[in-house]
Amino acid sequence: MQNRGYYDQYGGAFLPEVLIATVEELVATFEKAKQDPSFWKEYADIMSEYSCRPTPVTFAENLSNYFGGGRIFVKREDLNHTGAHKANNVMGQGLLVKRMGKTRVIAETGAGQHGMATATMAAKFGFKCTIYMGEVDVQRQRPNVFWMERLGAEVVPVKEGTRILKDAINEALRDWVTNMDNTHYVLGTACGPHPFPEMVSYFQSIIGQEARRQMLEREKKLPDRIYACVGGGSNALGIFKAFLDDPVELVGVEAAGRGLESGEHAVRLASPDASVGVAQGYKTYFLQDDDGQMKETHSVAAGLDYVGVSPILAQFKDSGRVRFEAATDQEVVDALSLTIQKEGLIPALESAHAFAQAFKEAPKLSKTEIILINQSGRGDKDIFTVADAFNDPTWQEFIKKKAEEYNA
Ligand SMILES: *Cc1c(COP(=O)(O)O)cnc(C)c1O
Repeated sequence: MQNRGYYDQYGGAFLPEVLIATVEELVATFEKAKQDPSFWKEYADIMSEYSCRPTPVTFAENLSNYFGGGRIFVKREDLNHTGAHKANNVMGQGLLVKRMGKTRVIAETGAGQHGMATATMAAKFGFKCTIYMGEVDVQRQRPNVFWMERLGAEVVPVKEGTRILKDAINEALRDWVTNMDNTHYVLGTACGPHPFPEMVSYFQSIIGQEARRQMLEREKKLPDRIYACVGGGSNALGIFKAFLDDPVELVGVEAAGRGLESGEHAVRLASPDASVGVAQGYKTYFLQDDDGQMKETHSVAAGLDYVGVSPILAQFKDSGRVRFEAATDQEVVDALSLTIQKEGLIPALESAHAFAQAFKEAPKLSKTEIILINQSGRGDKDIFTVADAFNDPTWQEFIKKKAEEYNA
C-alpha cells in the first residue's frame, strides 16, 4: 500500500502482514462508498434521524459583547446523540461494516467516550461489540462503563503494561488479528494506519459542510477564523476540511495541561517537544523520548490526552495551512466557566480549549470579523470530570455521602 494514505512524509500503514488483506477490504469498501452518491445520502439521513443533524450554529451574542471584538459563533456538535462529534465517525463506520457484511465491532477507549459511541452504534445496527479499556481507566470511568454494558457491549479491562489507553490499543489489535473475518476495528479519531485518517475525517467533514452553508446563509460571508480543539484531530479536520480553499484562518488548539515548561501536557504540534516517528501503525509527530519510548501526557480533558496526532494535521503544520496553539488546564476551566455563565452553553473540557484560544484573540479582531468555534461535545455528561476540574467542595461532600450510603 505504498504511497497511499501519505500526507507528505506522514501517515502510511505500518501493519502486521496478517492484517493487510482485511485493511485492503476496508479501503476498497470505503473507496466504493465514496463514489456512490447514495452512500453519503444514506449517511446524512441516518445522522439527521438519529443524531439531530444538521446541528445548528449559535450566535454567542453575550460573549461577543463581553470581548468587544470579533463576533463569536458556535457550531453545536454537542447536540449529537451521545453528546459529541464522535457519533459522526462511528455511525459512518457502522454503515461500512454493514456493506462489508461483518457482524462484530471492537474499539479501544481511554476516557470511555469513543467506547460509548461505538457501543451505541453497535446497538443500533445489531452488531456484537467488545470494548477494550485499560484497567486503570475502567476504574476512573465507571459511568461510561456502566452505559457501555447496558448497551450490550462487553467491556474488557486490560491488565497488561501500565493498564491505560496504549495497552488497550495493543489488546484491540490482537483481537482484530484473530477475528478479522467477522470483526471491524472502529478507530475513534483521524489517526492510525491508512485508511483511518482519511476515512474518519471524511465522515467528520459533515461538520464543516454544514457550517459553511449555515454561515453563508446567516451572515452572507464566511467566518474569518475557525477554532477547534485537537486530540487525535477528528473534530478539527471535520470543521476545517470544507474551508481549506477559502481565505479562512484555521486554528487548532492542543492541551497545554500544567504548562509547556512543566512537561505535563499533550502538545505535539504547537511545541518543539514532539518528534516524528512511527508507532501504532502510522508516522506522525509523537511525544517520545530519545529512545522512541512514548512519554506520559497530561490534560484536564481526557479526550486530548494522547501522544500522537493526525498525520493530516502534521502536514498542515508543516505547510502552515493550520496554525497550532495550546491552552492550559487553568485557561480552559476559566473559559468553560465564562461560557456557561454568559451563554448557558456547557462545552466539554476538550471543546473548551478552542473557546479559551478564541477568547485570547477575540478582543483583537474588529466587529465586522467573524469567529467560529467548534463545540465538539457537551460538558454536562462529564459531571465527574468537570466537577473535579472546578474543585467544587459541595460536590465532593455529595460523593462522600453517596459512598457512605452504599457502605451502610
Ligand atoms: C474525543 C473528543 C475530542 C478529541 O478528539 P478529536 O479526534 O481530536 O476530535 C474532542 N472533543 C470531545 C468532546 C471529545 O469527546
